[in-house]
Amino acid sequence: MIKENDRRLVVTTQGLCKSYDGRNYALRDCQISLETGRICAVIGPSGSGKSTLLKLLAGLERPEAGSIVLHGQTVTDDQKCLPPNQRGVGMVFQDYALFPHLNVAANVAYGLVRGSAEEVNRILDLVGLAGEEKKYPHELSGGQQQRVALARTLAPRPELLLLDEPFSNLDASLKHGIRQELRKIVKELSLSAIFITHDIYDAMEIADEMIFLEEGRVIATCLTEDLMKNDQAPSVSANLEQLRRMAERVIGLRV
Ligand code: ADP
Repeated sequence: MIKENDRRLVVTTQGLCKSYDGRNYALRDCQISLETGRICAVIGPSGSGKSTLLKLLAGLERPEAGSIVLHGQTVTDDQKCLPPNQRGVGMVFQDYALFPHLNVAANVAYGLVRGSAEEVNRILDLVGLAGEEKKYPHELSGGQQQRVALARTLAPRPELLLLDEPFSNLDASLKHGIRQELRKIVKELSLSAIFITHDIYDAMEIADEMIFLEEGRVIATCLTEDLMKNDQAPSVSANLEQLRRMAERVIGLRV
């Protein structure tokens, strides 16, 4: 049973199933949980159900079965499915989804009921975009556009941040800095975050823990620190070896 009043957990899902066509499952019997303040990477090959999981958490899709509890409140079960704006969740999309006709400040203020210039400037400062508020999206680099998308999502102060492949459109040279900054921002604001990646290095650099998906199923979960440790007791190292092989198979990279 999910404890509704367990505030230490920012998210818990049980038995989540999603099918788009009534025949094949995009996600099957998905159980995950994440403690408040933690960052989790969802890793898996294309088509393994990563985006589906994020969309179900955000309330953009409704599952066939299962439940989702966010910060102690049931937001999805067989009776109800709260809309995205009532979940305390913010999502950064892979293509950033900025409004091209609005400048940076207006893009960030968009999600705020009363977006004072002060509040917008505070958030732009946080994501390293102070002084860029009058620019339009087409005048910004990919990395800057991503920061605007992040600022816009952070503005309404979500408790849980969801990011769909946040680094896939960035040059390798930009990636390292932005990974570190993202982690810093999430920790500074005491948020929790779940992000999708194909890249084990993204996961290892930012995430506290990882979930591996394959064909719509969670096939493994692990703590990043465990994956990186080499000096383990034999019982733990056998599990780690298995995880490394899993990571290798799922991501196609040597860990
Ligand atoms: P991932 O994010 O890991 O690439 P997705 O969650 O996007 O995986 O997709 C999981 C499965 O669900 C895939 O087989 C995909 O084709 C299917 N799928 C995703 N979105 C839709 C949709 N809107 N309509 C029909 N099938 C979909």
